[in-house]
Order: sequence, then C-alpha cells, then structure tokens
Amino acid sequence: MSKRALILSEEDAHVSPKQSKKHWSLGLLESMKDPDLIYKKTERVVIIRDKYPKAKIHYLMLPKDNITSIYKLGKEHLPLLEEFGELFQSIQAEYKRHILNAGFHAAPSMLRLHMHIISKDMVSPCLKTKVHWNSFTTSFFKPYNDVLEELKENGFIKKIQNDVHKSLMATPLKCNQCNYIPKNMPQLKDHLLSHTSTII
Ligand code: AMP
Ligand code: ZN
Repeated sequence: MSKRALILSEEDAHVSPKQSKKHWSLGLLESMKDPDLIYKKTERVVIIRDKYPKAKIHYLMLPKDNITSIYKLGKEHLPLLEEFGELFQSIQAEYKRHILNAGFHAAPSMLRLHMHIISKDMVSPCLKTKVHWNSFTTSFFKPYNDVLEELKENGFIKKIQNDVHKSLMATPLKCNQCNYIPKNMPQLKDHLLSHTSTII
C-alpha cells in the first residue's frame, strides 16, 4: 500500500483555494479559531465539530497548548487527559440516546493532538473509504481509556509500527454492530442504516 493510500481521507488532503497558503495538515489549528466549528471551550481545551464527520456525531477535542500528537504526551499531561475524559462524559450525557466512542488515531494525519468523539452509527456521507472505516473500527483507533492507562503506566505512548498500520488499514470490512460482512463500502453503508433505529 502506498503512503498516499494511508492518508485517512482524500477530502482531508483536498486543498481549497482559500486554504492553499497553508498545508492541509495544519487545518485543525485554523478550525480551532472558527466560531462556526467551535462546540465548547475550557481554559485549556477546545472542542470542534469535525469538518468531514464520519458519523452522525463527530467532534474533535484539542488542547490549546501546542502538543503535536499522543506521542508527545508525558506524565505531566495526565491532568489534561483527565479533563478530556471529564469533557467526554459531559458530551455523552448530552447525547443520552447515542453511543459515543472517544479515542485517538494511532497514526494521525492532522497536527495538534486531537481526540475523536464519534457516534457508533458511522452514518455519514463523508464516510467513503475502507481506510476511513478501519481507522475507527480496528485497533488503529486507540480508546481514550487505553491511552490514559498507558500514559499512567509507562509515561509515554508507544508508536504503532508501519507494518501493523498497513495491515490494520487492509482489514476486511465487517459491520461494527453485528457479524455482517459486506462486499464493499456501498453495501456496508446501506447495511449501517438498518442499525440506526436501534441506536438513536
Ligand atoms: P486524524 O488526524 O486521522 O486523527 O483525523 C483528522 C480528522 O480531522 C478527520 O476526522 C478529518 O475529517 C478532520 N478534519 C480534517 N480537516 C479538518 C479541518 N480543517 N477542520 C476540522 N476537522 C478537520
Ligand atoms: Zn450490522
């Protein structure tokens, strides 16, 4: 698989004329300042709407401090990460009828540490590729609790190996809510709709 194929979404790599002066991987830093995208703020955290949501509910939680990714976290960041957990709980409380997952991509494509908060339905027009799917439904998605525990135990987050990354992205499609095995993404997207009445 080429490096390009591992980019999480083509739309993420798409550069509009307005953004063309800055590399797309810096887009979250701009979005953190965009009142239309900001959902909540605290003294040290900003929560924004994901610009290309991969489910009905999809937020990104970022620190105001310039921490590039989970791989720059140390024990000194435990209070920040604990605040991430508390904020996630408050969002889950707001969306009582949805199942939300919180976690980090093992190899993020965008700069500034960001935690995804994403509903289990995975129903969205922006969910298009197998890479999108596998980035949220395999162990490429590192659950918040696992990251918190790893940081408490080791004081750092271990990087994913390139071959593991590649094999996770190549994982055969399987529904995240039952044992259904679709032939392709359109089939999977159709099938996901059959679950929505039970989880929303
Ligand atoms: P990742 O770096 O793989 O953890 O994911 C980056 C996330 O940022 C994806 O879910 C994208 O849909 C989202 N995204 C990409 N560009 C922007 C942007 N400019 N503003 C807000 N969200 C974005
Ligand atoms: Zn299913």
